[in-house]
Amino acid sequence: MAEPSSKTRNIGIIAHIDAGKTTLTERMLFLSGHVHVPGEVDEGTTVTDWMPDEQERGITITSAAVTFPWKAYRINLIDTPGHVDFTAEVERSLRVLDGAVGVFDGVAGVEAQSETVWRQAQRYRIPRIAFINKLDRVGSDFYRAVKSLKNRLQADTLILQIPMGSEGGFRGVVDLLTMKALTFSEKQYGAEVAVGDVPDDFAEEAQAAREILVERVLETAGGEEADRILERWDRGETIASEDLKSLIRAACLRSACTPVLCGSALKNKGVQPLLDAIGDYLPAPEDLPPVKGFHPKTGKAVKRRPDPKEHFSALVFKTAFEQWGEISFLRVYSGTMKRGQTVFNPAKNKSERIQRIWSIQANRRTEIPELKAGEIGTTGGLRFTSTGETLCDRKHLILFESMVFPSPVVSMAVEPRSSSEKDKLFDVLKKLAHEDPTFTWKTDEDTGQILLSGMGELHLEVLKNRMIRDFKIDARVGKPRVSYREGVVRKARGEGRFQRTSPSGRNQFAEVRLEIEPIQEAEVRFVNDASPDEVPPAFVDAVKEGAVGAAWSGPVMGYPMSRLLIRLTGGTFHQTDSTEPAFAAAARLAFEDALGRAQARLLEPVMKFEAHVPESFRGSVIHDLQGRRAEIHDVERESGMDILRGTVPLAGMFGYTGDLRSLTQGRGTCSLEPYEYAPLPETVRKSLFG
Ligand code: GDP
Repeated sequence: MAEPSSKTRNIGIIAHIDAGKTTLTERMLFLSGHVHVPGEVDEGTTVTDWMPDEQERGITITSAAVTFPWKAYRINLIDTPGHVDFTAEVERSLRVLDGAVGVFDGVAGVEAQSETVWRQAQRYRIPRIAFINKLDRVGSDFYRAVKSLKNRLQADTLILQIPMGSEGGFRGVVDLLTMKALTFSEKQYGAEVAVGDVPDDFAEEAQAAREILVERVLETAGGEEADRILERWDRGETIASEDLKSLIRAACLRSACTPVLCGSALKNKGVQPLLDAIGDYLPAPEDLPPVKGFHPKTGKAVKRRPDPKEHFSALVFKTAFEQWGEISFLRVYSGTMKRGQTVFNPAKNKSERIQRIWSIQANRRTEIPELKAGEIGTTGGLRFTSTGETLCDRKHLILFESMVFPSPVVSMAVEPRSSSEKDKLFDVLKKLAHEDPTFTWKTDEDTGQILLSGMGELHLEVLKNRMIRDFKIDARVGKPRVSYREGVVRKARGEGRFQRTSPSGRNQFAEVRLEIEPIQEAEVRFVNDASPDEVPPAFVDAVKEGAVGAAWSGPVMGYPMSRLLIRLTGGTFHQTDSTEPAFAAAARLAFEDALGRAQARLLEPVMKFEAHVPESFRGSVIHDLQGRRAEIHDVERESGMDILRGTVPLAGMFGYTGDLRSLTQGRGTCSLEPYEYAPLPETVRKSLFG
């Protein structure tokens, strides 16, 4: 890769399922000369969607990545998945992106999943441009879609192009920077762009749009350069498109605006200008501030500049098991990673040897000698490193913050058909969990049953297919079920005293006092407020282990506890008799003592939903949702569809997508994502568990 880092663009595409992300990616690959004929999603032959599951569903599940050249640029496209069940994958990919393109359906505008991911991108302050796609579709409306970007995403939109014609008559775009009309050849997938004068029937609209653009740019840009340009504008001079471009770039890099482009991926219109815009407005790795991490031993903040000469640091953002074995996708943040080099994993305290490095090309790959700061690639044969972990120079340690994943809300039992399958199954489960941190599994000690847990029905279905079809495990798989948790209603104190003389005559002693209380977050948190005279620091970990370990199985029905804070408040220790096991045992007793008074309850996962239904079906959909204990918070009308938003317990939502379809003659859609764990109402608990 000869391009300097200023020409690298690490970007992702943010899109609701079906907005056209796959089609657009294919067109980009084709136009870059990477593939000869663009794949067609509808025929199941695309380059990025190459997992069998994805070909069947036409959705992109793994964050496979591709790299391709465009003019002077090297574009690394990280494929962010478009289904809410895979929020964690999205989050993981977002971390390694420097910029993103939001693809929106010109008919539907902003939809649920793009909204979720867009907000995530905002949280990571990732500069974004928007592409309004499908302008050839009946019912599409460019300005309405832009409005939904403003209203739903609070995006500071900056319209850079206007469409020429609409629906069947959509011909191309007017570029408002150059005031030229761009049309795309019908042959060769639009590979040729014809640049011409703006046709008379669009001249007025384009002129007005350009004036708004210039004003908005000067408003947003600020700074000396903007002032100088403003003076020229006031004198009535025209502003060179290159000047505008550099102001837009500066504003976009600050996430102060969202440049908007448009076209039709399917009809090959508008793709080249979008590729140009990626180079023009989205950041290069070197435009970014130094990446922050901390020193694994001292906990002090550490920074690394995105410079190939810095000390090496990288993040493994995905591991996958593929036909050629395990591969790790990584992004180098600083320094250079060379073939044959030994690097260090500070989380595991292990060295790893980089045997080979490949550039990323969906299901093909090319070996390369090194990866420099800002680049993305894959390596094979890492022995200790899993998804989300840092690699660095052993002499210059840095650890990037680990990612926080929501806890799994759905589980499913698997039972191998023979005992010989069992070991194989364990192996596969370990691999799958290593690839995907939102997937967990455990064996129930009482029943011996193996339970898989994940983020939603589709997530578990994909895992099931991976297990049975790809890894050929012969097993019976149960239906997805809700993963309940247990929590407490009240704050309570507890005490535990452990005193024993072991058979060898050694005394063991510890006393622990703690408090437990409910919190909002779906986790078990431990804090130490005890004075070191009462519980010396050396024993705090043992107390934590004892108490948090006891919370693994709640008092109501044995589900793991959640939304719980455990605060160590004090205790008693003995110079010679106190041991770690004694403190752990005392903590367990204190925890159980507190639990007795804190009123434990079952908690159920509650999902956030967004349903799009035709107006005429609104009444029946709301009625049906209420039967599933949904709370509807908001109803909005957008181009003939009603958008219902609210929360609903997951328990009533298995198979909902299908039910909604039959309720709305196939026209309603709904997306769900984990929201919170809430106490299960007593009447529901009775009807479920007696
Ligand atoms: P993804 O789910 O976002 O990856 O979307 P796909 O690329 O799979 O596209 C979903 C559907 O929309 C497919 O049937 C595509 O053929 C179609 N599609 C994609 N782009 C366009 C477009 O610009 N115009 C029209 N009319 N259809 C499109």
